[in-house]
Amino acid sequence: MSETAILVKNLNKSYGALKAVDSLDFQVEKAECFGFLGPNGAGKTTTMKIIYGKAEPDPGRDTVIDVFGFHPAKNALTIKALSGIVPQQDNLDSQLNVTDNLSIYSKFYGMSAREAKKRISELLDFMELEEKARVKIGQLSGGMQRRLTIARALLNRPRLLILDEPTTGLDPQVRHLIWNKLRELKEMGVTVLLTTHYMEEAFQICDRLIIMDKG
Ligand code: ATP
Repeated sequence: MSETAILVKNLNKSYGALKAVDSLDFQVEKAECFGFLGPNGAGKTTTMKIIYGKAEPDPGRDTVIDVFGFHPAKNALTIKALSGIVPQQDNLDSQLNVTDNLSIYSKFYGMSAREAKKRISELLDFMELEEKARVKIGQLSGGMQRRLTIARALLNRPRLLILDEPTTGLDPQVRHLIWNKLRELKEMGVTVLLTTHYMEEAFQICDRLIIMDKG
C-alpha cells in the first residue's frame, strides 16, 4: 500500500504581479519518483524551493503543504534534515577537492569523522567517483561535478531527494548513469522529486508527473 510523502493543495506564489505558481495541487507517494515537467519559467524551481523552505508561498487559509508530516515554514530544520537537495547550478567549493567538499558538509550534519569517512567512501563508490577522490573541482567534467553534487545531497541518507533539472547540459552517458542511480535510490525507499524539461527524462524515470506551464 502506498503512503503519502508530500501533500500540496492550493499552492500559490507571486512575485509582484507575476504568478509563478498558480493554485497548484499534487500528492507524492513514498519511494516514488515524481516529476515536474515544463518549459523555462513554468514555476518548477519555485515549487521545489517552497517545499524545502527556501521560498515562502503566498499566504492562504486553504493552502496545505505537508512534507513527511512537517510544514516547511514551521519545521524548516526537520525538513532539511530529512532531505537532500541538488540545485539547478552546482555549488561545489572550487577551492577544495572532491573528498573535502563532502567532508565539509558531513560536519554540517554533525557526523563524526569516522562515520563521515565511511559514508564518503560509500558515496564515491556509488556515484563512481572513487578515482577522483583527491581531485580539485576545477579539474572535474560537468558530469562529474553533477555526480558529486548528488553524492553530497545523499550524505545524510535523506528520505527525500529533490533534484532541479539533474541532467541538463550533460551528455547521454552521464544522463543514463544518473537515471540508473535514481532508480537504485528509489528501490532503497528514497522518495525522488525532480524537475525537468526533457520529456525523455520524465518518461525514463518518473512514476508519475505533472506538467507545469505558467504556474
Ligand atoms: P527553469 O526551467 O528556467 O528553471 P522554472 O520552471 O523552474 O524554470 P521558476 O524558476 O520557478 O521556473 O520561475 C517561474 C517564474 O517566476 C519565472 O517567470 C521567473 O522569472 C519568476 N521568478 C523566479 N524567481 C523569482 C524571484 N526571486 N523574483 C522574481 N521573479 C522570480
